[in-house]
Amino acid sequence: MEKPKPALIEPTDAIVRVTMGSICTSDLHIKHGSVPRAVPGITVGHEMVGIVEQVGDKVTNVKPGDRVTVNVETFCGECFFCKNGYVNNCTNPNGGWALGCRIDGGQTEYVRVPLANQGLNRIPYSVTDEQALLVGDVLATGFWAARISEITQDDTVLIIGAGPTGICTLLCVMLHQPKKIIICEQSEERRIFIQTHYPQVQIVLPDECKEIVGKTSENGGADRVIEVAGGEETFRLAWECARPNAIVTVVALYDKPQILPLPDMYGKNLTFKTGGVDRCDCEEILRLIEAGKIDTTPLITHHFPLSEIEEAYRIFENKLDGVIKVAVEP
Ligand SMILES: [Zn+2]
Ligand SMILES: [Zn+2]
Repeated sequence: MEKPKPALIEPTDAIVRVTMGSICTSDLHIKHGSVPRAVPGITVGHEMVGIVEQVGDKVTNVKPGDRVTVNVETFCGECFFCKNGYVNNCTNPNGGWALGCRIDGGQTEYVRVPLANQGLNRIPYSVTDEQALLVGDVLATGFWAARISEITQDDTVLIIGAGPTGICTLLCVMLHQPKKIIICEQSEERRIFIQTHYPQVQIVLPDECKEIVGKTSENGGADRVIEVAGGEETFRLAWECARPNAIVTVVALYDKPQILPLPDMYGKNLTFKTGGVDRCDCEEILRLIEAGKIDTTPLITHHFPLSEIEEAYRIFENKLDGVIKVAVEP
C-alpha cells in the first residue's frame, strides 16, 4: 500500500529516511490482531536505522544528514518517570510504544519520529547500519535485563530462551563477566547457533534445566535467572532454577496469567523484577558497539529488499531457514 511521505507535525518531530529495518515478534502480534491499541491499517515496524531528513524547530539533538538509531519507545525526558530512567512509564500522552503501533512505523521509506530529542541517537561513524540495527529495541531490552539483574562476577546466570531477545540478553550479560552463563533453549537450530557463536556458554534443554542447574551451581540454583522465553512452563522454570535469595528478572511477555505459588517458594526469599523495558541506554549501547564489545551482526541471518518484505515475513514468522533476525532495506 502506498502512503504519502510523512511530514513534521510537532516542533519536536523529526523525519527519518529509513536505510535499514527489521521485523520484530511484536509486528506479528499486530498482524494477528493481538495488540488492541494498534491502529488498523498502521504501517508497522519499530526496529530501524536511518538518516535524518528534516527536523522540527525544537529538535536539537540531531540534524539533517545524521545517521541515527530509532528508539521503539517515545518518551519526553521530562516527567518524573523519565527523569528517573523509567522511560517505559513516561506520562506524556505521546509516550510509550507509538511507532509502528499507534502511529506509522518504519517498514517503509520515511518515518515521522515524535519527541526526536529522546527517540533518536546518532550512530558513530565507524558503526554500520547492520551493527546498529537492533539497538533501539531488542538489544536495548537485553541491555536493560542484564543491568537490572545486578550481575556480579561470582554469579551463575541462567537465561531462559535463545530467541533474538534472549541472544541480545546473553551478549549484554557477557559484558558483566559472570562466572558462568547457562542458556535454556528447546530449538535445535538455536542451540547450534549458540554453540557456534558463543562456545563458552553452557546450553541445556528445558526438560533437564532444573536438574542440571541445581547440580552444577554451587548453592543449589542460579544466582540470577533471566526469563525471556514467555512459554507455558518457563515462568515456573525460572523461579525453580533460582537459588534462595536469587534475583529473577522476567522480560518475557506472556499470553496468559502466570501462577506465583507463594507457599511453594516460601523461604526461598526471591527478588522478582518484571516489566516493560526502559530503553534509555541507547547511547551507551552504541558506544559499546563502537568499542567492539557488543556485536549483534551474527543475529541478522537474512537480508531482503523492502519490495520482498512479504517473503521476509514468511521466513521470520515460520522460523524457516535458521532465521534469527531479518534486515529489510528500502
Ligand atoms: Zn519489538
Ligand atoms: Zn516522560
